[in-house]
Amino acid sequence: MSLVDHKTWCSINTAFGSFQMYKNGNDREDYCLLSYGPLSELPKVPLVRVQSSCLASEVFGSIDCDCRDQLELALKRIAEVGSGLVIFLRQEGRGQGLAQKIRAMRLSDIHGYDTFDAYEAIGIAQDIREYRLAALIILELGRTSIRLMTNNYRKVEGLIACGVDVVKVVPHVCTMRPEIISYLRAKETKLGHRIGLAGDGHR
Ligand SMILES: [Zn+2]
Repeated sequence: MSLVDHKTWCSINTAFGSFQMYKNGNDREDYCLLSYGPLSELPKVPLVRVQSSCLASEVFGSIDCDCRDQLELALKRIAEVGSGLVIFLRQEGRGQGLAQKIRAMRLSDIHGYDTFDAYEAIGIAQDIREYRLAALIILELGRTSIRLMTNNYRKVEGLIACGVDVVKVVPHVCTMRPEIISYLRAKETKLGHRIGLAGDGHR
């Protein structure tokens, strides 16, 4: 069973342009592929964003992290160049799930912990996100090389380990908002994201 049903898609009209949302070949719900332009015209080395879900910011509009900022920047950049992919992966809380994330962030509320210290306080690993599924989707589309928008080299390494050559890492730095500077600083200093003070992510 293929991961993406190339024949079944719908238009998604966004503030940045009209994308195509494809049906998963296996009807699973844990990922979603968006393309700008038909997959049949996808460039040999496409511009790609692999986005892990963050319900709080992407759906509810939380301003505590930069996940939504990064998703919107990706849509904007893809529309500007005229082609590209967003592979959305349902892996909340750096892969730990929403329940663990809420437990951790409650400690942030109470004690002022940053995202790293909060995860440490409840004894869970900092980042268990996996990128194998994203790599398999890219490979299934017949692409082995991509340009990846990210600040997270763990993601780059994860894709490379699964057979996708990241020929260019496009720094994905969003506009700084004062309320997330400390969050971004924690990600940069404790989670190793290459931000120059921006981020790839996830509370
Ligand atoms: Zn987030």
